[in-house]
Amino acid sequence: MGARPLLNRRLDGHGTTIFAEMSALATATGSINLGQGFPDTDGPEEVREAAVRALRDGRGNQYPPGPGVPELRTAIAEHQQRFYGLTYDPDTEILVTAGATEAIAAALLALLEPGDEVIAFEPFYDSYAACIAMAGATRVPLTLRAPSFRPDLDELRALITPRTRLLLINTPHNPTGLVLDPTELAAIADLAIEHDLLVVTDEVYEHLVFDGAHHPIAALPGMRERTVSISSAGKTFSFTGWKVGWVTGAPELVTAVRTAKQYLTYVSAGPFQYAVAEALRLPDSYFDGFRADLLHKRDLLTDGLAAAGFRVFRPAGTYFITTDITPLGEKDGIEFCRSLPERCGVVAIPNAVFYDNADAGQSLVRFTFCKRDDVLGEAVSRLQQL
Ligand code: PMP
Ligand code: GLN
Repeated sequence: MGARPLLNRRLDGHGTTIFAEMSALATATGSINLGQGFPDTDGPEEVREAAVRALRDGRGNQYPPGPGVPELRTAIAEHQQRFYGLTYDPDTEILVTAGATEAIAAALLALLEPGDEVIAFEPFYDSYAACIAMAGATRVPLTLRAPSFRPDLDELRALITPRTRLLLINTPHNPTGLVLDPTELAAIADLAIEHDLLVVTDEVYEHLVFDGAHHPIAALPGMRERTVSISSAGKTFSFTGWKVGWVTGAPELVTAVRTAKQYLTYVSAGPFQYAVAEALRLPDSYFDGFRADLLHKRDLLTDGLAAAGFRVFRPAGTYFITTDITPLGEKDGIEFCRSLPERCGVVAIPNAVFYDNADAGQSLVRFTFCKRDDVLGEAVSRLQQL
């Protein structure tokens, strides 16, 4: 095939995702997997049954409509109204996607031109870097630094150039657990308006905020017309394999994202779309119970990791905990995570892979706590051997 590399150069350096690598390591070594973020218990039985019913009744077994089934788009609109007072037209302002992952890809492919700059919080969720690269744009990291991981808003202002097209934000933030507060969101909104920037906001952990509250940036004055909001059923309802996500935004933005999305998957997850419509209408007790359960697990793992000698940054949101391994006499998170299964039968994720400025994340390691209590307890007792 000659000397030319097969992989498009835009994807150079974007090899196997860290989640795939670490989950494979967990399987191969029989380790407890606190790496990739997926629960070890499925979501509500009635939601699972709703999917079975849809399959049996022949709803969604053939191509659903491109924007998503009307039942789900209506349920998403109701959810945005119920939790945030945001009004969206199910026909023009909502798009169902193959998970948040496709929503991110479609949004970035639709809204960016080669040469555009995208400012994103670093550490960034791995698909951001790859999708910005596939769009031919350039990522510009705003580094979130321990211990608070709060964004430096002066630094953000200084990163904006005439080429900046888009701010890519994520709150609650994976992997740090940062939840942007109203002051930070207002400052980000002001900058977006002042510089006429688009905002893409990834809010897949919207129902996992333990300290403070989740505030969608789209609710701020002047933001609706420039914001693409993304969420997903995977995290909120503990069905990460269903891959049902969505985009909400002004009609022109959603139309642009849909134009890209229709050539990625066209449509997906027909019967699951009906089940997620029912899930979104679950009573408050479901959402409160889910959060309370994960809050308990957060504290269980936070305390356990601290007792095992890690420096722990207690997350305000998400189901991830970022730790620093320096107190254990370690400094390289990648090496640490590669050797951890052999040393004590636990898998974690090195935050370094989510940084351009690798120094800032070198000694940081992420653990997920969306696992059964007995599994978390066993992981902690294994980690105490370190
Ligand atoms: N964004 C963030 C911040 C995530 O952690 C994840 C992983 N669930 C995704 C997007 C992808 O979500 P989905 O599984 O719905 O594609
Ligand atoms: N969002 C999950 C995490 O951060 C992983 C999803 C994936 O493997 N792409 O662990």
